[in-house]
Amino acid sequence: MAAVNFQTLSSEEKNKFFDSFDTVLTDCDGVLWMEMNPLHHSAEVMNHFQDMGKRVFFVTNNSTKTREEFADKCRILNFRISKDNLLCTSNLAAQYLKNLNFKKTVYVIGKSGITKELDEVGIKHIGTGPDNVISPTRNFKFDKDPDVGAVIVGYDEFFSYPKMVKAASYLADPNVLFLGTNTDERFPASDNLVIPGTGSLVRCIETCAERKATVLGKPEPYIGNLIKNRFNINPSRTLMIGDRANTDILLGRRNGFQTLLVLSGVTSMDDLEKWKGSKIEEDQELLPDYYTNTLGDLLTHLKK
Ligand code: PLP
Ligand code: CA
Repeated sequence: MAAVNFQTLSSEEKNKFFDSFDTVLTDCDGVLWMEMNPLHHSAEVMNHFQDMGKRVFFVTNNSTKTREEFADKCRILNFRISKDNLLCTSNLAAQYLKNLNFKKTVYVIGKSGITKELDEVGIKHIGTGPDNVISPTRNFKFDKDPDVGAVIVGYDEFFSYPKMVKAASYLADPNVLFLGTNTDERFPASDNLVIPGTGSLVRCIETCAERKATVLGKPEPYIGNLIKNRFNINPSRTLMIGDRANTDILLGRRNGFQTLLVLSGVTSMDDLEKWKGSKIEEDQELLPDYYTNTLGDLLTHLKK
């Protein structure tokens, strides 16, 4: 895998690259925006792709909002996208259970993105919100809800020891399903600050439950197959854009998509250099076809 700097391509090579795909899948945070701040020219680039007749899909591992709420955010930040062209892991979790005709209750470690999506498909849930009660005797006994048939772990700022006790106790029954929304280890933050991401919570519950979760988001097969089947795309004429190599680029590589890494989020030039020089196969798998500093870099050429 080459990991070519997009900026070093000739004008002719850039044209050839833009002609080589008719579907664009893009990650959201770190490519299109940072939380509520849009990244410069990202909306123009994505809207321009649509004007060129390319199909565009937004694919985020974020589980904190519903699909509808992400679509609202896109509109506010000037991205033209309907909720049907948007995948988020809260919605994936609800759809996964709906497809199984799941009729029981879900114990949710997560936020309202997940519970609202479950409400939308008529699935009962418990667990969200603070749960920090630790008895002085460290007696963690609780009334198990006998109807719980699944545990979902997503991003939860109220993650706590009592929640670990409950999730692992429900998962002691092998018939209880175990879903993780995504495994992003951390969020981008300043040098002396580490903000744990959902992956840290999923791995925590996996450890105490002594079971592996079925993870739904990038780069796992569930979302890869769903993209290919639902959107009926031709993988070799599809471009995946992302800022995190071990989710976005890996998803692209595993599914035969072309890949473009932007350096405006998680993965850095230092990472790329390290993987380029590595003989380890897993490191090589993280290398994109192309990279550039920001998605906005594409605009000058697109508008020529
Ligand atoms: N999960 C949560 C809770 C987030 O806040 C974010 C980014 O803001 C992500 C996951 C990663 O989202 P994306 O896949 O769009 O980069
Ligand atoms: Ca991202």
